[in-house]
Amino acid sequence: MAQRIDKQQVLIVGGGYAGALAAVRLAGKAKDRAAVTLLEPRTELVQRLRLHQLATGQKVRAYDIAALTGKRVTNVRGTAVAIDPGRGRAAVAQDGRLTEIPFDQVLLAAGSGDDLDSVPGLRENTHTLGDPPAAERLWGALRELTEGSRVVVCGGGFTGIEAASEIACRRPELRVSLLTAGRLGAPFSERGREQLEKRLAKRGIEPIEGERVGAVEPGRVTLVGGTDLEADLVVWCGGFAAPPLIRDSGLPVDSRGLLAVDGSLRSVGHANVIGAGDVAAIPDFPGGARYRMTCQAGMPSGAHAADTVLAAIKGEDPKPFDFGYIHIPLSLGRGDGLIQFVDRADRPKDKVLVGRRAAVYKEIVTRSPAPSIAWERRLPGMLRWPSGGKASAAQAETATGPAWADGADRD
Ligand SMILES: Cc1cc2nc3c(=O)[nH]c(=O)nc-3n(C[C@H](O)[C@H](O)[C@H](O)COP(=O)(O)OP(=O)(O)OC[C@H]3O[C@@H](n4cnc5c(N)ncnc54)[C@H](O)[C@@H]3O)c2cc1C
Repeated sequence: MAQRIDKQQVLIVGGGYAGALAAVRLAGKAKDRAAVTLLEPRTELVQRLRLHQLATGQKVRAYDIAALTGKRVTNVRGTAVAIDPGRGRAAVAQDGRLTEIPFDQVLLAAGSGDDLDSVPGLRENTHTLGDPPAAERLWGALRELTEGSRVVVCGGGFTGIEAASEIACRRPELRVSLLTAGRLGAPFSERGREQLEKRLAKRGIEPIEGERVGAVEPGRVTLVGGTDLEADLVVWCGGFAAPPLIRDSGLPVDSRGLLAVDGSLRSVGHANVIGAGDVAAIPDFPGGARYRMTCQAGMPSGAHAADTVLAAIKGEDPKPFDFGYIHIPLSLGRGDGLIQFVDRADRPKDKVLVGRRAAVYKEIVTRSPAPSIAWERRLPGMLRWPSGGKASAAQAETATGPAWADGADRD
C-alpha cells in the first residue's frame, strides 16, 4: 500500500472536458488534502463537439472555465512546455516568459491536435477542425468560395462525416466530396450504414471510399494510386495526434505518441503523472472495448484520473478505470443526425435513430459536458458512467476489442 501524504499540490494540465471535470471532482472530494491548480491557455472551455458548427459560421455558446470550475480550483493561464516528474516541476509559458509550477502529482489532460505530418502538404494546403482558431479560419475560407466550388473533406471518420454534412448543409451550392481510406460508417450496423449513405446522398455529398491521400497541393489532392482530384478547398479530418508536450517531456509514450498509462491511468514510468482524455493511451477495458478519443469516454476518464490522484493522497491503491460505451452520436448538418447505439464493448446494435429526433438527441449530448462539470462541482463524485462489463471467455482469450476499432479513434 502506498504511503499517505498530507496536503498535496496537484497540477492539472489542460482545461478541456477531461481536465476541467477532473479539477472540480478532485478539489471537491479532496477538500483540504489537495491544492488543485488548473493550467490552461484559454479562458473559455474548448467545445470540440461544436467545432464543425464553428467552422460553418454558427454561433456557439461560451463557458468561462474559471466560473465553471469555481473557487476551490486555482485557474492559471499558461501553456505547459515540459513536465519534469522527478523534480516535480512543470515549465510553463505565460505571456511570453517561462515560469515553473511545482507539483506533487500532475494530471495531464492536454487533449489532441491535428495530425498534419502523416501526408505531405497538409500543413500548407489544408484546413482543419483541430481547435477554435482553425475552425474559424475554415469558415473564413468557406465563405470565400463561389457556387460550384469543390470542397474535399479527407477522412471519413466521425469528424469528417460531421464536417462534410455541416458544410453541405450550410453551403448547399458547393460540391462536397467525402474521401475515406476505408468504408464510410464502417463501425455501424448494416442499417446504420444504409441510413448514413442515404442521408449523405440527400445532402448531395459525393462519397469516395477506399482511397488514401498521398499528397495535397494547392488546388488538388493526389491519391496514393496517382489520381488527382481537383479541389478548391481541402479539409483534413484524417486523425488526431498527441500534443508535443508529452514527447518533449520524455515521458513514456505508445506508438502514437500518447502518454502510456496503466489501468488506473498512471503513467507507466512515473507514479506522480496521471493521464486522462485524448492525451492518454488508455488500455483496453475488461469488457473488450477500446478507448476511443471521445468526450463520451474522456469525461469519465477525467473523473477516474481525479480518483486515482486522490487514492495516492490517501495512501490507498488506485482502482482500474472501467468504461462501457452507449452510442455513436453524429450530427448530419442541422436538423438531421444518426445515432448508432452500441453495446458496452462498442459493438453496433441494430438500433439506430435518424432524422430530426436524432438531431435533438445529438444536441442534448453536445450540450451536456459544461452542465456536467458544473454539477460535479456542486456535488463532487456524482458523475457515474456505465461499466464495460466482464470479459467474456472469448475476449479474455483473444484480448481484442471490436474488429473495427483497430487503430481507430474518433476518426
Ligand atoms: C469536430 C469534432 C466533433 C466531435 N464530436 C464528438 C462527439 O459528438 N462525441 C464525442 O464523444 N466526442 C466528440 N469529439 C471528440 C472529443 O471532442 C474529444 O475526444 C474530447 O474533446 C477530448 O477531451 P480532452 O479534455 O481530452 O481534450 P480537449 O477537449 O482537446 O481539451 C484539451 C485542453 O488542453 C489544453 N491544452 C493543450 N495543450 C496544453 C498545454 N501544453 N498546456 C496547457 N493546456 C493545454 C487545450 O487548450 C484544451 O483546452 C469530437 C471532436 C471533434 C474535433
